Amino acid sequence: MNEQIITVNKLTKQYQQTQASGITDINFSITKGDIVAIIGESGSGKSTLLKCIYGLLKPDAGEVLMNDKRVKGPDEQLIPGNAEMKMVTQDFSLNIYAKVYDNIASMLSNTDIKAKESKTLEMMEHLHITKLKDKKIIELSGGEQQRVAIAKALISDTKVLLLDEPFSQVDSLLKNQLRADIKRLAKETGLTIILVSHDPTDGLFLADQLLILKQGQLLQNDKPETIYQNPSDLYTAQILGNAVILTREEALQLGIKTAKQHVVFYPEWVELKSTWQSRRFEVKEVYYKGFYDELLLERNGVKIRALQLNSGEHKKNDHIQANIGHFLEF
Ligand code: ADP
Ligand code: MG
Repeated sequence: MNEQIITVNKLTKQYQQTQASGITDINFSITKGDIVAIIGESGSGKSTLLKCIYGLLKPDAGEVLMNDKRVKGPDEQLIPGNAEMKMVTQDFSLNIYAKVYDNIASMLSNTDIKAKESKTLEMMEHLHITKLKDKKIIELSGGEQQRVAIAKALISDTKVLLLDEPFSQVDSLLKNQLRADIKRLAKETGLTIILVSHDPTDGLFLADQLLILKQGQLLQNDKPETIYQNPSDLYTAQILGNAVILTREEALQLGIKTAKQHVVFYPEWVELKSTWQSRRFEVKEVYYKGFYDELLLERNGVKIRALQLNSGEHKKNDHIQANIGHFLEF
């Protein structure tokens, strides 16, 4: 159990010698069958890291091991890339004038036509694109093209699927479906998936393991819930999306003293109380979220957000008590 399929050792790739661009001294390993999400702002080195893992880019230093074998760089083989991995990039690399079926089937050899057909149909079933079988790629939406690209990547005994910004072209409803499908695929087939994204919600929902990348460096590597509860620095807290971030001066306005520069907390850490006397906040906005509300609260000119689980309990312009029970300092 807990077999490591990929190990990344001291991986460094700099595009320019003078200026930091690329990745620096990256170390981590991946358990077989896991979904790993690599999150970082644009330019943080996500695509560079993926390309090094796949063998499309030659690292300056360090190595990538797949099942204990070093992944070869582009200078060491005729066709760059690793036979047991597949990478789906934002441009999908599909033959846009060919049919969906043919795009996927083209990955298989013609030695056994029957097997080729059944395998292709089965993979289309997996990705919910059976209905699109005879359509040309050019006739499909971005989300549909993406499913075809994934089906094509997976059909030839792929052990590791690399996805570069897989959700960027998909609207939010389809996004949820695709996320669920990716998760199911990984669990059903034992496939290992590495996905990179600038959108943390992709990673948090899906991943068994989450890596935070900043300016080419690996800041944090842990379970998503651990990173969410305990971001190691302000960048991570910011990139996770929903945190309330106050400067020291703002925090002081709310009665929170800190020696650090920032105070950070999540809306769900704020307790709303009706008995507590100090720290009165005014409800500036109520954002309806379905089974709860998010409240925008203000006190002494400082705005925070809090969850109201009893939807509709406090209304705009109400004055309420809010206690920031737990917070982080950076
Ligand atoms: P991300 O995928 O996180 O947006 P990239 O890995 O594409 O980041 O890029 C990381 C950094 O390396 C960026 O600063 C980018 O400008 C630089 N970079 C990427 N590719 C090249 C290249 N071929 N030549 C020079 N610099 C590059
Ligand atoms: Mg990129």
